Amino acid sequence: MDYDVIVIGAGIQGAGVAQNASASGYRVLVIEQYAKPAQGTSSRSSKLIHGGLRYLETGQFSLVKECLVERARLLRNAPHLVKLVPFHIPVYEGSHYSSLKIALGLSFYSLISLKPFHKIPKSQWSTLDGIKQQGLKAVYQYYDAQTDDALLTQAVLASAGSMGATVQFNSTFQSVDLSAQGCVFCYQHNGKDKTVTSHSIVNATGPWVEQNVNKILPNISQLTPLPQPNIELVQGTHIEIPGKSSKGIYYLEAPQDQRAVFVMPWKDHLLIGTTETPYTGDPAEVSPLESEIDYLLEVYNHYFPYSVRRSDIINSFAGLRVLPKATGSAFSRPRDTLIVGNTTENAKFLTLYGGKLTAYRSTAEHVMDKLKEVLPVTGSTTHSTKNTRTIKL
Ligand SMILES: Cc1cc2nc3c(=O)[nH]c(=O)nc-3n(C[C@H](O)[C@H](O)[C@H](O)COP(=O)(O)OP(=O)(O)OC[C@H]3O[C@@H](n4cnc5c(N)ncnc54)[C@H](O)[C@@H]3O)c2cc1C
Repeated sequence: MDYDVIVIGAGIQGAGVAQNASASGYRVLVIEQYAKPAQGTSSRSSKLIHGGLRYLETGQFSLVKECLVERARLLRNAPHLVKLVPFHIPVYEGSHYSSLKIALGLSFYSLISLKPFHKIPKSQWSTLDGIKQQGLKAVYQYYDAQTDDALLTQAVLASAGSMGATVQFNSTFQSVDLSAQGCVFCYQHNGKDKTVTSHSIVNATGPWVEQNVNKILPNISQLTPLPQPNIELVQGTHIEIPGKSSKGIYYLEAPQDQRAVFVMPWKDHLLIGTTETPYTGDPAEVSPLESEIDYLLEVYNHYFPYSVRRSDIINSFAGLRVLPKATGSAFSRPRDTLIVGNTTENAKFLTLYGGKLTAYRSTAEHVMDKLKEVLPVTGSTTHSTKNTRTIKL
């Protein structure tokens, strides 16, 4: 067998699995269709390393807890890439979330994260980057973290490389035959066909996930059938505008529909996001819609006095969430990563659906646990990356 684990996709999830597998002493190949890592969702996120305060409302407690534990690890293991930032939640007359509800949520959040929150005294409201004072009833401050998602992905992939993983860019997965002893894996590298063998395959292709599941031979439905989840893609757009935030991140309620929108300092500018728009096209073609840009500008101009116009926008980008299919708003759908095998037991082809940038390391640990049965014994005493320092690039 040429490899123990082949990972398809060099986004954060693929990089995380490659890092964990190579730390365990496995022979790893990562293939990525583009010329560098993080060209998909992993450079188009909100760049937050967070528990997700708002997921408390939908009862996703274990996800929040897992993400807060991972946040603490990343602050320790990648201090050059992950920084703690103060977040501010202003509460206005007529806000959807009452002051009491926010205080309750923050109490729970602080308890798990061991980071305090407090109410900012009224005398200091005028120092909050010009935020609208009319109707303001309270401002809460708590802590979460921010990163550069693309750099974090590159660093994790480089860490995998330093532990022996082979990474091939400009390489597109074509098909895999699972009927053989191991997996016979076919891909194109710089336009040339290649075939290699591996004990296992991990499909970490983000919004391309379904296209790639369908490349399994024999067709996945003819194997011991394990239903793949019904998913949909939901687009999230960010805009980058001139301006500074001296106090950190603002967590705002969009006046149009009460959704959460962040205003964040980002590389000497401000980043505003995000939206939730169903998407059915080719993942490679996703781009911000005019209506999403208008929506984000309206939120910003509602809260801040600087009247930013469309012509002021420096940059905009859109990414795709992979969410369980359902009717209604994307907000309430589970954000956990689903790991689905080609068979119920001893699966050698695992597919990752959804997930969080924040939890990439623990997701990788779950993936490697599931692959244990089909992988050879390596002699490595641990596959834990809990204390692996993320290398500086
Ligand atoms: C708008 C938005 C905001 C978000 N904000 C946050 C946040 O603030 N914090 C947080 O924790 N999470 C956030 N998330 C979630 C997080 O960004 C994603 O879960 C994560 O980036 C997904 O990573 P991935 O590796 O699964 O997918 P991707 O980064 O999309 O990587 C998949 C890779 O697979 C490659 N690929 C696809 N098909 C093939 C093929 N056939 N052959 C070879 N390569 C292939 C692609 O080129 C791509 O590089 C956000 C998501 C969105 C959409």
